Amino acid sequence: MPPLLELRDVRAGYGGITALHGVDISVGAGQVVALLGPNGAGKTTTQKVAAGVHPADAGRLLYGGRDVTGIASRDAASAGICLIPEGRGVFPNLTVRENLWMMTFTGKSREEVEELAFSRFQILKERASQTAGTLSGGEQQMLALTRGLVTDPAVLLLDELSMGLAPLVVEKLYEQVAQIARDGVAVLVVEQFASAVLDMADHAAVLVRGRVEYDGPPGRSLRNELANLYLGSA
Ligand code: ATP
Repeated sequence: MPPLLELRDVRAGYGGITALHGVDISVGAGQVVALLGPNGAGKTTTQKVAAGVHPADAGRLLYGGRDVTGIASRDAASAGICLIPEGRGVFPNLTVRENLWMMTFTGKSREEVEELAFSRFQILKERASQTAGTLSGGEQQMLALTRGLVTDPAVLLLDELSMGLAPLVVEKLYEQVAQIARDGVAVLVVEQFASAVLDMADHAAVLVRGRVEYDGPPGRSLRNELANLYLGSA
């Protein structure tokens, strides 16, 4: 099956800084691809290019086999490419319920949006009247994830989902990510620290200083190699 989203030989940077030196990444429908790498490797930049948030200086972005290089972020979002950035992006002064209701711009009713969120994460129902800023980090991440799902994405780009969270919470979030992929969504997960995501990923890529240094199965050989790859960047 051809990949749903594909970056081909993408170069991108910021002013004089080149962050990506020809990156190839692809993710198919129903697949979870883990994009790993140390600080500053270019993981977030890769996701921003994939979501049309940051332009590629060279190379191509393909979506459903079509060349969409240069696509605007708004068009990427309405075509089904959903970026959930690092830092969660919930509205801290609004309640959980209000954060969900804001997603009714998608055409779904308040009830439908709530049902979607609460069926995945029961805890959000218990916290429905609480302001989002007072949720735990994991609960905020669950809220951010369900807000993204309301848009019925075909591609989900998750940046540092596990950042600062306890292992059990991370496990719970990744159970849902695996379920989302089983429903047919193409998922590209960026993580700096690898182990939880490697347990459920179908494929892994490691970026080091803007270059893909590993592209293959997420198994033991990668785990053995990871420390060397990361140390090589220091
Ligand atoms: P981290 O895990 O630390 O978030 P990352 O792998 O996601 O890192 P990027 O955020 O993509 O890496 O950054 C890649 C390179 O581009 C880094 O050298 C970074 O300093 C640089 N960079 C990122 N954003 C900007 C920006 N807005 N302006 C200038 N340089 C930037």
